[in-house]
Amino acid sequence: MVDLVFEAPRRGKPPRHLMDLDREQRRAAMTELGLPAFRADQVSNHWLARLSDDPAEWSDIPAPAKELIGSHLLPRLLDPIRAIDCDNGTTVKTLFKLHDGALVETVLMRYPDRATMCISSQAGCGMNCPFCATGQAGLTRNLSTGEIVEQVIAGARALARGEIQGGVGRVSNVVFMGMGEPLANYNAVVRAIRRLVNEPPEGLGMSARGITVSTVGLVPQIRQLAQEKLPVTLAVSLHTPDDKLRDTLVPVNTRWKVSEVLDAAWEYASVTGRRISIEYALIKDINDQVWRAEMLADLLRGQLVHVNLIPLNPTPGSKWTASRREDEQAFVRTLRDRGIAVTVRDTRGRDIDGACGQLAAAPV
Ligand code: SAH
Repeated sequence: MVDLVFEAPRRGKPPRHLMDLDREQRRAAMTELGLPAFRADQVSNHWLARLSDDPAEWSDIPAPAKELIGSHLLPRLLDPIRAIDCDNGTTVKTLFKLHDGALVETVLMRYPDRATMCISSQAGCGMNCPFCATGQAGLTRNLSTGEIVEQVIAGARALARGEIQGGVGRVSNVVFMGMGEPLANYNAVVRAIRRLVNEPPEGLGMSARGITVSTVGLVPQIRQLAQEKLPVTLAVSLHTPDDKLRDTLVPVNTRWKVSEVLDAAWEYASVTGRRISIEYALIKDINDQVWRAEMLADLLRGQLVHVNLIPLNPTPGSKWTASRREDEQAFVRTLRDRGIAVTVRDTRGRDIDGACGQLAAAPV
């Protein structure tokens, strides 16, 4: 944006943004500004359907209205301060500064047939999983709906403008696997998902099936999400089938045990019809034994589920590393032999600290 970006206040909650509002709220906001309510749909179409942030292109809106809308409803929420890429430019990690100086990262991963945006729901994270870089600095704050949606729009714009290797494209998938625990920022995340899936002018018109919410296992929020009529994919960061080890790997397990988390996940699958994804970071000699694979298979058998094994990505100072190749293979085989669907996640973005668990939003 050239003309319309005004310095946002430095403190407090993020300034109100068009993307925080649903269609009716946007109409009311226009009326508050003394503008006709139909300007809401016009500007929303520019923002979401055409992905245009250049007011010069909004030929159906008079200049004074553009000024008003820009200064009151389109503050710049995300200031990109660094972007680095790898995989020949098809993986791009971007560091954004928020209005109060908080930092978040996103990762755009382009494949021949799709493009996935990995986005953040919080600045930092309060879940304290010892193998994850984000957790080490603790939680700074929740992101607003606008701050979440604008991460996707930033990626969508870059793709639409042909700025990403591979030509003009669109975002087909969004995964809440960046910084933060999405279900600990429940309301903003659910509102953001509605903006992503609702058709323009309200939203981006993405398929809910292309959206994945990944959680440490906050049981009440999993059950609540099941009732939202938003058939997004639920990913559960299990990482081990036994409570004793999970209490240390995913500390929130001391509150909700493996069996409670899985019960909530099966309820989610039965209400939404969506297959649950179980995330399991394979850590050498910690959780990668065949007996754990057998125990995991016993817990999952007969359910609508898929296991996504993630070779542990190194984080600074960690004493843990990824499993040996043969242990990973034995783990996969044990699950497959027991009829459990399993894939091993690629390590896209590892060389730029953009892979799972590596987002630390360090400013240098
Ligand atoms: N808070 C959410 C989303 C964050 S990260 C959650 O925990 O599910 C997405 C996935 O990456 C989670 O399964 C997380 O446990 C995993 N992860 C974190 N650190 C990792 C690391 N160093 N190597 C591999 N996976 C990691």
